[in-house]
Amino acid sequence: MENNKQLRTWLDDMKLDHPLVIAGPCSAETEDQVLKIAHELKDTDVNYYRAGIWKPRTRPGMFEGVGALGLKWLQKVKEETGLKTATEVANRAHVELAIEHDIDLLWIGARSTVSPFIVQEIADALKGTDKVILVKNPVNPDLPLWLGAIERLASADIKKLGVIHRGFSTYEKTKYRNNPEWQLAIELQTKFPDLPLINDPSHITGKRDMIFDVSQTALDLNFDGLMIETHNDPNKAWSDASQQVTPKVLIQIMKDLKIRKETDPEAEYNSKLNNLRAQIDVVDNQIIDLLGKRMKAADSIGELKKQKNVAVLQSKRWNEILGHMVLEGELRGLSEEFVLKMFKAIHQESINHQEKIINS
Ligand code: PEP
Ligand code: MN
Repeated sequence: MENNKQLRTWLDDMKLDHPLVIAGPCSAETEDQVLKIAHELKDTDVNYYRAGIWKPRTRPGMFEGVGALGLKWLQKVKEETGLKTATEVANRAHVELAIEHDIDLLWIGARSTVSPFIVQEIADALKGTDKVILVKNPVNPDLPLWLGAIERLASADIKKLGVIHRGFSTYEKTKYRNNPEWQLAIELQTKFPDLPLINDPSHITGKRDMIFDVSQTALDLNFDGLMIETHNDPNKAWSDASQQVTPKVLIQIMKDLKIRKETDPEAEYNSKLNNLRAQIDVVDNQIIDLLGKRMKAADSIGELKKQKNVAVLQSKRWNEILGHMVLEGELRGLSEEFVLKMFKAIHQESINHQEKIINS
């Protein structure tokens, strides 16, 4: 997919003076619930009203959505409040029903993006549509898989495209429900600057009290908008209860978020910025140089181990290094998570080097 300015015209044409906001419940539960929340979001900065109609649940037997009936409720939302509507589609039948009920924005969920078969089916069903189509990242941190889905939609002649970063599943426990791999989203943004990038802090955090901070981080990283699950009685929600906020809290969040400019023309700011960037370039070069030296020492250790037929992995020594470096990192304001991640990557590279040597 080449860079294509046309992809973001739907967003530019909205001429918003704030990031795009998509809000509404995780799931449509009853007609009353859907309408009540919508009325509270009317005349706010919310641009699209979301509600899940078909819910992909991890385990069977959980609430799986009200089905097509809920689309009628969304139509009523539009009639009564003027809000545009949005829902998740996961197959051809969903797409046809959503279009029939005049849903304005359709998104592909994380569990669908992982499957090229499903994405192709949806793309074929959507062919040439002028609806806005957003693609959530796949459950696993796989950029080509995410790009593949976008390409399938672009090839189906869909002009109003965008992506949603909703975080990634990890084996390791973190404070997030789905880990935000910011670097991956930034890589996508760098490759396709014309593709609007929306953040979903609800599914990233899984907890309502973390939503503001993640939203602010997303805006600081130039995301174009936010999708925030909003419910009139979050604790009693039929799905994702712990991450939904009330309309009142959402409105406060939108008020408190700081919207930053992409840049500033002022000369003093630019000269300071260039100076600091030059410092970073110097340090980055030093880091690479030091890593090269560290790897040379590891290679020599590999040679020694080979001579004595000693195993590559020495767990005790490695745990000592890790413990020590976490403490040293802390003194320099580096988080334990970062230090562990970095040293694990360095250690893996050393093991790869030594494996090669020992088996040569
Ligand atoms: C949702 O938006 O309610 C949803 C199911 O999201 P995801 O596909 O990100 O899990
Ligand atoms: Mn949800």
